[in-house]
Amino acid sequence: MNDLIIRQGKLINGNVIDIVINDGKISALGPDAAAERVAIREIHLHGHYCISAGWIDAHTHCYPQSPLYFDEPDLVGVAGGVTTVVDAGSTGADDIDHFYSVTRRVKTHVYAFLNIARTGICNQNELADMSYIDNEHLQSAIRRHKGFVIGLKARMSKSVVGKNGLLPLIKAKTMQKMSGLPLMVHIGNSPPELAEIADLLTKGDIITHCFNGKPNHIIDDAGNLKPTIQRALARGVIFDVGHGSESLSFPVAEQAIRFGAYPHMISSDIYQRNRIGGPVYSLATVMTKFLTLGLPAQCVLDCVTINAANSLHLPRKGRLERGYDGDITIFEFKNQSIELMDADGHSRIGKQQFIPVAAIVAGTHVIVPENTTSGISVKDRVTLRRSINNDIPL
Ligand SMILES: [Zn+2]
Repeated sequence: MNDLIIRQGKLINGNVIDIVINDGKISALGPDAAAERVAIREIHLHGHYCISAGWIDAHTHCYPQSPLYFDEPDLVGVAGGVTTVVDAGSTGADDIDHFYSVTRRVKTHVYAFLNIARTGICNQNELADMSYIDNEHLQSAIRRHKGFVIGLKARMSKSVVGKNGLLPLIKAKTMQKMSGLPLMVHIGNSPPELAEIADLLTKGDIITHCFNGKPNHIIDDAGNLKPTIQRALARGVIFDVGHGSESLSFPVAEQAIRFGAYPHMISSDIYQRNRIGGPVYSLATVMTKFLTLGLPAQCVLDCVTINAANSLHLPRKGRLERGYDGDITIFEFKNQSIELMDADGHSRIGKQQFIPVAAIVAGTHVIVPENTTSGISVKDRVTLRRSINNDIPL
């Protein structure tokens, strides 16, 4: 007997497949792969609902005890169809133990990028005091939480580093060498200048807020992608959206996309305030924004599945393939217009939307979000719920 069978889920290319999950892993998939099989739980999608590997949000803030940017992991995760979230530096060496214990009690897979400041984001300027950047405590936290801490985070903008300029980043690059983990760098207002930051980054490092509209952004006065950014991308530096409350400009993103500088990862930088009050709302909304800016649907999905898994070094996630984790997102790809806002007040009208319906995490939890704004009709929701045995609501 199998654990879970998903029958007739539609891929974004229109192909319809079955997926069989056992022991938290995909054990078979393909057209009619489940024809002769039975399972403890079955979901029939009738070729109507779409499926993809579980969505991964590479930049969230979901440490509930954080004083500034906080949320509940399941509210930024499974409630929005997101099976894996990465907290981007809310915690440092001082509170990572507590954050880890919180994440053991939730349904969403949670990982952490550890803030190089031992305090995490306890106030707006955690890198203004160099004594907070404590390598011994950082390395000890990484050793204690191998597999949970998957990267380091440094927020390199004026309000965070104060008078320290590039120093926190120089120190972060040294500390990174001891662990071999990727470094995620937040960019924003200068100083330090974007060019100085970008020149220090190496292959696999991540620039988050890559399409922000602040004066220090990636497009030069002539409308070209700054040479320093071109060089960084050529070296293998990764572009991550990190929308957030202040860090996505449609004109900057559109210009970058014109130059072929697509994001590698589409992430939300979601926390309670910008989830409830916008402009982020959900990862699905951010995905719909990039669809509207001209990225093909498959490319948008790749940014939250295979690209994210590769960039975050999560080798068993991000793919619908035999042996990979049984994390699946069920969603609708709907022709329905929507007005979308960036973080700077620009609006665009989208004609198609990604609308999450359910998140399956390691084949065991099936959660249909109750969010009435998700666009799923009550009738559809009841039908889907009936087709899911042992449905576990939030
Ligand atoms: Zn953030």
